[in-house]
Amino acid sequence: MADMRETLFYNRKNGYELIDAKERKALEDYCGAYMDYLNISRTERESVINAIVLAEKAGFKEYKEGMKIKAGDKLYKNNRGKGLMLAVIGKETLDKGTVIAGAHVDSPRLDLKQNPLYEDGEMAFFKTHYYGGIKKYQWVTIPLELHGVVTLKDSKTVDIVIGRDPGDPKFVITDLLPHLAADQMKKTMSEGITGEGLNVLIGSVPYDDDGKDKVKLAVISLLNDAYGICEEDFISAELMAVPSFEVSEIGVDRSLIGAYGHDDRVCAFAELKAILDLKKTPKRTCVCILADKEEVGSMGVSGMKSRAFETFMKDLCETQDVPLRRCLENSFCLSADVCAATDPNFPEVTEKHNDARINYGMGICKFTGARGKSGSNDASSEVVGFVRKVFSDNNVIWQMAELGKVDQGGGGTIAQYMADRNIDTIDAGVPVLSMHAPYEVVSKLDCYETYKGVLALYNS
Ligand code: MN
Ligand code: MN
Repeated sequence: MADMRETLFYNRKNGYELIDAKERKALEDYCGAYMDYLNISRTERESVINAIVLAEKAGFKEYKEGMKIKAGDKLYKNNRGKGLMLAVIGKETLDKGTVIAGAHVDSPRLDLKQNPLYEDGEMAFFKTHYYGGIKKYQWVTIPLELHGVVTLKDSKTVDIVIGRDPGDPKFVITDLLPHLAADQMKKTMSEGITGEGLNVLIGSVPYDDDGKDKVKLAVISLLNDAYGICEEDFISAELMAVPSFEVSEIGVDRSLIGAYGHDDRVCAFAELKAILDLKKTPKRTCVCILADKEEVGSMGVSGMKSRAFETFMKDLCETQDVPLRRCLENSFCLSADVCAATDPNFPEVTEKHNDARINYGMGICKFTGARGKSGSNDASSEVVGFVRKVFSDNNVIWQMAELGKVDQGGGGTIAQYMADRNIDTIDAGVPVLSMHAPYEVVSKLDCYETYKGVLALYNS
């Protein structure tokens, strides 16, 4: 009878029942490389720059207009420093299609407003406008860093990172002490801390003169000394406050990784590592996309709706006299994005027959969306079947997953925008605990299996 259950039932197993010592070692090595990458990649720009460094080390060259390309060539295109597309040219011509993996490298954060600096109560602050879906109460009383760029009056752009190096100062948003929070505690969790209340504390020493706004003056003069910026320069800046937690192993057994920005750098790194690790020339051309702006709707020139993708693909197609539409029509896309892991502290939001479990491997989502699959790419059975077969043939540990109970909420990914382009697309990625929190948790095994999954598709 046991055999019948083994053959006829869909049996999900904990990944640790399925891997051997060799795989455990490979998993640790892979996750070490991911943790190193993530620790220094706290914005989309940093994620792109650090990816280019790794790609060039692996022999990738920047694509230039008019370049001749041949099978085995490794190319990348930097989209304005905020998005990246990489390709390894396959043996087959591009009219046979490509294998695309697309992930995003932007994460929820607190962007500085364009006129952010002010003084109040003889302290200086930055006003922020949050980016992406956050629970605002999670962002107070945690150490923050400042990352980004400022374009000065003379059009020169300077990079700013404060808080990453050991010994750097950090920033913080304060909260009320419980002793005086009687009124605050009666509010709902979405009202207790407001968007306009997310003001970052940045200084308190007054400038030594008799004028007004002495602390503000002292702070901007320090920034002027270090970066040459004046207050007006914030207008043409993209500065963001991001959590300052170190990427760390979690648990007595070190089996999990805690970090800011797993969504979606954990899948971005998986597909990046997979394309860099391609040992021999693949059959079909492999494409790896690190996109921006997913957390706010994939719009803009660096988002997945941008024609920057078509431009790159058309450039490749034209070198082989292949119409872009033929290439896209025959392509496959893995929308590599995280899914929600079941949290035993909140069992009421997931449905146990269709949830994603920690250590059960890469989570495949046939659909995402909300309220009757709205706003979702709903992959066809054939597409799901293709992925299932590739994963099973390559011993990838995977599970079928759904984003929470029906009508519990929902969410989207870049999948629908890839499918709109006439590309067969499916979502799959790493299950995450505390998604969109300043410190998210993933399982090392799931990270590694996601890398294996993308690599298997690239080699399919
Ligand atoms: Mn995501
Ligand atoms: Mn997200």
